[in-house]
Amino acid sequence: MKFCPRCKSLMRIEKKEEKIFYICPSCGYVEEITNPRITMKIQKKERVTVIEKDHTVEAIVKVKCPKCNNDTAYTWIVQTRSGDEASTVFYKCTKCGYTWRVYP
Ligand SMILES: [Zn+2]
Ligand SMILES: [Zn+2]
Repeated sequence: MKFCPRCKSLMRIEKKEEKIFYICPSCGYVEEITNPRITMKIQKKERVTVIEKDHTVEAIVKVKCPKCNNDTAYTWIVQTRSGDEASTVFYKCTKCGYTWRVYP
């Protein structure tokens, strides 16, 4: 979780050309993630979820499952059509596996 230094919006994670960035959906501020620990964690996750190839990035976040009230879920971003279009954020409950999406 990271907030935009310009407008304080919650930034989202996107992967482009093997690099991982924080992108602010409100003002478009972009910051490359250079923390090797975060990068390693994401790469490991991607290897686990080979079936879901359209995932931009997958990470575990604190979010409440609407089904079982579990408070952690996997998250990933799916780009719709061109890269300029708004992408859809998916969540999948780590406990019951319920999947839902959020339109930014
Ligand atoms: Zn911003
Ligand atoms: Zn659940």
